[in-house]
Amino acid sequence: MPKRLQMYEGGGVVVSFDPNVCIHAADCIRGLPTVFDVKLKRWIRPENAPAERVAEQVRRCPSGALQFRMKPGD
Ligand code: SF4
Repeated sequence: MPKRLQMYEGGGVVVSFDPNVCIHAADCIRGLPTVFDVKLKRWIRPENAPAERVAEQVRRCPSGALQFRMKPGD
């Protein structure tokens, strides 16, 4: 059964994570550990870095499991 899409919002950006697509390359965790920390239940905390930096890291996700959307007005 497919796993549910996860959404994490903070700091003016919404990051979504599709666990069905992730290849566990860990680029996100290595690249921006203040935001991506699998030890935490809420493992993506976009508010812990500038939105542009979060977006840049999301773009580097090799599988496309991570996506982002800037929140207008924030
Ligand atoms: S960078 Fe993308 S593919 Fe790699 S662990 Fe993170 S979400 Fe999964």
